[in-house]
Amino acid sequence: MRLILLGPPGAGKGTQATRVAERFEVPHIATGDLLRQIVAQETDLGREAKRYMDAGKLVPDGVVLQMLRDRLSQPDAQKGFLLDGFPRNRVQAEALDVMLAEVGHDIDAVVSIRVPDQEIIERISGRRSCPVCKRVYHTVSNPPANDGICDDDDAELVQREDDKPDVVQERLDVFHRQTAPLIEFYGDRELIRTIDGVGEVDEVSDRIAEALEGAGVS
Ligand code: ADP
Ligand code: AMP
Repeated sequence: MRLILLGPPGAGKGTQATRVAERFEVPHIATGDLLRQIVAQETDLGREAKRYMDAGKLVPDGVVLQMLRDRLSQPDAQKGFLLDGFPRNRVQAEALDVMLAEVGHDIDAVVSIRVPDQEIIERISGRRSCPVCKRVYHTVSNPPANDGICDDDDAELVQREDDKPDVVQERLDVFHRQTAPLIEFYGDRELIRTIDGVGEVDEVSDRIAEALEGAGVS
């Protein structure tokens, strides 16, 4: 099972990907998470990536493609994967096709999650995450039991640097300019299913399950 979740930042890709990956027993591969791991290592590469991320820009394709190639070559990704946050432009989408063709595979389905910009801004401004277990919350729609504290490990929740308002607009612009054209790219190959990402998390999960069924993935 080789799946892609496409959508603007804050669309709920990570929230939904956890569920889909569990259901299909494939690894959830989020390039944003992989990049944040590299940044945490404080190497030259990490510092370079951080500059782009803090500005809301895409990290250069060369860095992201090498990182993804390494991740896809891991044993757990041989049976399939769910990509979240990749590809984000045409160069990456074409490179992914080449990588998969080299091992005789193809993408099975792409689910595009549609959420209006205004809702995105509300979601991102309320997003908080646990620095220890990475669980994602929302101050209003999905708060922890105790304000600002992770339910699972009592760590203090943090706001991502790039979730601050001035960067969010740039990330949305980058999505519309560079990532949204991939809807057509995959649409031309009849791989895409578009779903409404507004509603309860469970409702959105049901729509994704239905879309995957419609794409012959179940
Ligand atoms: P992405 O991975 O696409 O950037 P996330 O899964 O991190 O998005 O979700 C962004 C924020 O929106 C988080 O704070 C999350 O708790 C919240 N969220 C996710 N799905 C929904 C939903 N269906 N309705 C309201 N808020 C949501
Ligand atoms: P995300 O966690 O998906 O919101 O990604 C956070 C940031 O990481 C983005 O704003 C980009 O700077 C960077 N990033 C994540 N995935 C990619 C990608 N596929 N290509 C380029 N940059 C990426």
